[in-house]
Amino acid sequence: MQIIFDTNHSAMDFTNVNYEIFPNAPERCPFKDCSMPVKLKKHGFYKRFFISKSFSGLLYIRRYICPICGRTVSMLPVFCLQYFQYSALDILNILSELYLSGIPLNKLIRKVKQNFPFMDRRNINYYRKRIVLNRYLIQYGLNLISPEYIFAGEIPENQKWVKTFLEIVRILHPHVFLRDFSNLIGKSFMTSQFILA
Ligand SMILES: [Zn+2]
Repeated sequence: MQIIFDTNHSAMDFTNVNYEIFPNAPERCPFKDCSMPVKLKKHGFYKRFFISKSFSGLLYIRRYICPICGRTVSMLPVFCLQYFQYSALDILNILSELYLSGIPLNKLIRKVKQNFPFMDRRNINYYRKRIVLNRYLIQYGLNLISPEYIFAGEIPENQKWVKTFLEIVRILHPHVFLRDFSNLIGKSFMTSQFILA
């Protein structure tokens, strides 16, 4: 399981083993079928790759373990997206530019490559596809985060819905959306529902 936390530290701060920049161990096991009121124990760090506009490299991510059920919890800074190397905030920004500013995809890709030379049309189309495939999960999460945005009336077609979703994320602020969504739903908004976190 991954717990997403807000942080003012940059990716650079996570390039060494640093005990200071992670939240304390949960006081209760976060796995619902365990939920024992026992403080989780430190369980080392794991390394994961991360790419953002200003950073590309390995981060050290803190892990805790439940002494009762033996399952582990990793503490992921909000800018990381579970199972994705690219920064969650950058992915949301790129998609917002595509859907909300109306820039043509070819032009957007040229622009994106200035910061992310290895990102291409396939990456962007994959992100779009993942969001559409997760539409009902994302809508469920949005309804929990901010019930005032529950859609009323006719059900919009997918592309129109993605646009509305990105507008809501912008209003909520992307880091608030990412943190709240992951912590309410237990996985990121882009996670394949067939992958168990
Ligand atoms: Zn447990």
